[in-house]
Amino acid sequence: FRDSGEVVDAAELAIEGALRPSSLDEFVGQHKVRGQMKLLLDAARIQDRPADHILLSGPPGLGKTTLAMIVAHESGRPLRMSSGPAIQHAGDLAALLSSLTPGEVLFIDEIHRMARSAEEMLYLAMEDFRIDIMVGKGAGATSIPLELAPFTLVGATTRSGLLPNPLRDRFGFTAHLEYYDPGELERVVERSAIVLGVDIPPIARAEIARRSRGTPRIANRLLRRVRDYALVHGAGASAAVEDVRAALELYDVDRIGLDRLDRAVLDAVVRRFRGGPVGLSTLAVSVGEEADTIESVVEPYLVRIGFLGRSPRGRIAMPEAYAHLGIAHPEGAAL
Ligand code: ATP
Repeated sequence: FRDSGEVVDAAELAIEGALRPSSLDEFVGQHKVRGQMKLLLDAARIQDRPADHILLSGPPGLGKTTLAMIVAHESGRPLRMSSGPAIQHAGDLAALLSSLTPGEVLFIDEIHRMARSAEEMLYLAMEDFRIDIMVGKGAGATSIPLELAPFTLVGATTRSGLLPNPLRDRFGFTAHLEYYDPGELERVVERSAIVLGVDIPPIARAEIARRSRGTPRIANRLLRRVRDYALVHGAGASAAVEDVRAALELYDVDRIGLDRLDRAVLDAVVRRFRGGPVGLSTLAVSVGEEADTIESVVEPYLVRIGFLGRSPRGRIAMPEAYAHLGIAHPEGAAL
């Protein structure tokens, strides 16, 4: 169920696509962001122009890609999808930008991972719908301006702090997506269960919602595993709360939704580093995971539920983390 660095098969990706809401009205939660985005899109529609550029930040699986698709869908414009790692040279971006049709929505996922040279080209493109193409090398090099069709850029990032200010400032609207509360996730599960044709009572939906790490993508994946479990061991197309509990135990999701990596991180801070503080890279090595995954996927949720704290000297385990692991909190430790 991990959201980063995980190999997900093509069939799962196709189902994920089918579960995506296609309008702002169907998009669950994120009330404030939805209202802000609606105003932006309505204003653009009235003036028949592309909407302002939009930056979406937040942990994986909270709906950034879905919102980019909704922007295109609601404004009746085509969507072009790319990602930071695919733009390693300014030339990659020039090719992409110069092929956009008027009004197209360009989605760049993980925009913080784009090459620096491309970032600089993007400043001008966002502001003036123009780029300068360098021709030749050395003393004979000249730059040729190229007009672009007006477009809307939707950038997504799990690490908005890594974006240079000049780039961040060129977005007309920046939204930070928050983790969803269990009531909202229940609605996500309810909607997805209809799409998947699974009959699931409210009590079982609530159990999935509580154990989804505040993340719709995880809620949808847990629902699919629960559906599998009910098909194989239960009453076929109808899933009971017992199926939820058994399936989630099988997949190592604990009673509050933490998975194996979450627990490994907590365990390392509490036991190996005696409650911390411990630096990010030391922690990453000790659990055998990329520092970036710890920082952008694991940590934000553990901080959000009050299990981990951050101090200038590193990560600290909070009393709630000790309680969850069933370990006595040493008086005065870490804090
Ligand atoms: P990543 O950056 O890792 O791609 P993301 O933030 O772009 O993640 P999405 O791919 O948009 O996340 O969403 C993941 C899944 O969760 C989608 O299949 C979508 O169905 C579902 N989802 C996300 N947000 C919502 C929502 N607000 N309402 C209903 N379903 C949602």
